[in-house]
Amino acid sequence: MHDLPAPPRVDWARSAAYLDFDGTLVDLAPRPEDVRLGRDNVDLLRRLSVRCNGGVAILSGRDLESLRPHVKDLPVVLSGSHGAQIEINGDPTLVPGAGAGIQDAFRRLTPFANARGLLIERKAAAIAVHYRAHPEMETEVRSKIEDMATAHSGLKPVHGKMVSELASKDYNKGTALIQLSNHPQFSNRTPVAIGDDTTDEDMFRAARSIGGIGIKIGAGLTAADYRFETRAELSDWLAETLEVQ
Ligand SMILES: [Mg+2]
Repeated sequence: MHDLPAPPRVDWARSAAYLDFDGTLVDLAPRPEDVRLGRDNVDLLRRLSVRCNGGVAILSGRDLESLRPHVKDLPVVLSGSHGAQIEINGDPTLVPGAGAGIQDAFRRLTPFANARGLLIERKAAAIAVHYRAHPEMETEVRSKIEDMATAHSGLKPVHGKMVSELASKDYNKGTALIQLSNHPQFSNRTPVAIGDDTTDEDMFRAARSIGGIGIKIGAGLTAADYRFETRAELSDWLAETLEVQ
């Protein structure tokens, strides 16, 4: 798909990076814990953080607990559970109210997932049903999640790649980006939001709303301004933009 151009060279000294994790920095794996951040990307993230003076965040649908082990020791800010959790300089916070209704929904979804051999994951502010091992169940899982969201006024359905979730309605990666952009590490820097999935669209729109840009990885309709076909193209571009000028 060539409807959007590749992004121009970014001046990281004046920018802040907001990056998705799965599908953007790592390949998707059958089980979420099986992903590995490659040594090349570890190196790129370290250099990016230096160039942005700490203005680098990874925003994931994952819980912080599930995200943290993969990025440990990297000088990056983390946001987990679709914007409901933010961890700056090792200090985690849950956005107030973000976990409401999650426990009840988890209790009700568990029998559904167990009966079908699907992996169900309880996050701080979301519940995920992974069907990567049973792709034929996509329709059934999606409609179950839709039904449950209808029944719980505080929750919304979030459909990603091989996963459907119930998440807090009031928070997303876009609200997290805006929140972070007011933090000293990120303020007065042009946001550059990069992601591959539907949940990254909130982040693209938020970045644009405060003068930044969005970069979409892969195919699909998007609110982003630029596109890369693959993760590898993103890594190459990052390496290029980080070369000493
Ligand atoms: Mg992703």
